[in-house]
Amino acid sequence: MSFFSLAGPSSSFSHPLASYGWDEGWEAEFAPYAGQGFLPGRVVRVDRGQCDVVTSAGAVRADTEFVVPRDPMKVVCTGDWVAVDPEGGDPRYVRTLLPRRTAFVRSTSSKRSDGQVLATNIDHVVICVSLAGELDLGRIERFLALALSASSGEALLHKSALSWESGAQPMVVLTKADLVPDAVGLSYLVQDVETTAPGVTVLPVSALTGDGLDVLVASVSQGTSVLLGQSGAGKSTLANALLGEDVMDVQATRDMDGKGRHTTTTRNLLALPGGGVLIDTPGLRGVGLWDAESGVGQVFSEIEELAERCRFHDCAHGSEPGCAVLAAIDAGDLPERRLESYRKLMRENQWIVAKTDARVRAEIKRDWKRKGAQGRAAMEAKRGRWR
Ligand code: GDP
Ligand code: ZN
Repeated sequence: MSFFSLAGPSSSFSHPLASYGWDEGWEAEFAPYAGQGFLPGRVVRVDRGQCDVVTSAGAVRADTEFVVPRDPMKVVCTGDWVAVDPEGGDPRYVRTLLPRRTAFVRSTSSKRSDGQVLATNIDHVVICVSLAGELDLGRIERFLALALSASSGEALLHKSALSWESGAQPMVVLTKADLVPDAVGLSYLVQDVETTAPGVTVLPVSALTGDGLDVLVASVSQGTSVLLGQSGAGKSTLANALLGEDVMDVQATRDMDGKGRHTTTTRNLLALPGGGVLIDTPGLRGVGLWDAESGVGQVFSEIEELAERCRFHDCAHGSEPGCAVLAAIDAGDLPERRLESYRKLMRENQWIVAKTDARVRAEIKRDWKRKGAQGRAAMEAKRGRWR
């Protein structure tokens, strides 16, 4: 099987780092360090306390030990903009980390400060969903929640509420569109996803025929993107189509040293020929659903809005009197499937946090006990509704 490749013309940029996402905002952030003679650069790979940085003076290798090493959230990460020493042999030193606009964080506990940063300064989260099998809307909701939890740098520090504006912009790409030969059928699938993800761009794409690739290239031509999705969704194929060549293979060949061994200098951040930047790290590839509760709330905003009108503040929308969510289902305004997905995702998210956090685990247990004591009669009534 051969795939379409789109190697667009390189745009003409004024600053040598523009193709890596350098803009006036970064220029302003960097001004004080420019005054000290440091070089700006973007981290394209991190390993063992060192990182590879692209600078206007070429690629350099740098030590990160000067950047607050005790705070895991401030560990230098792929996607970061940094200031490095202007000269000297490699490794040099990363002197400062510019404030992040967004970050993908894997929470290892409910305390944000214990998170692991996977990628930073991301503008677009491209959620890849294959059309090869049956479309799983619940899975799309799950990835959307995750995309929305890619929080703004500020939110990371202050635990503030996240919003569509502050975080990365999600987009759903339905891959392998060539496997749905019927155009009308395809448009129904797109509509289904659009209903599940209100306000989110949904784009069917085929790497095989090239359909939709031009729109995708244009969508990611500004800012930094990541591809998320299940294994087999077609992410690598799309990445190669966006890059216009089999970069991973090409790099592997180039990095072969004289003795025929691979030296690992593969970049996790690449400038796209059609404009824009792609981040692809092993950590992101294996992404599941982490601490994405705020994201879940945004994906199901209509349920959260309804819930504000429930009679009880802590209404579980099971059998409580005066429940606005159940009323909406009865009135046909809210599909029952949406509420089921919402519950499932909230439960799952809570479970994942609980697995790593004893305090949350204890809270959940208390909650279960309280509900068990007060809710047995309610459960009886509920049985008719939720099997
Ligand atoms: P990843 O695990 O998400 O990186 O998925 P891959 O890019 O490795 O693709 C998984 C499989 O789907 C591979 O066998 C690809 O050849 C196939 N595939 C990818 N894109 C397309 C497409 O547009 N059409 C078809 N028919 N197959 C595709
Ligand atoms: Zn309710």
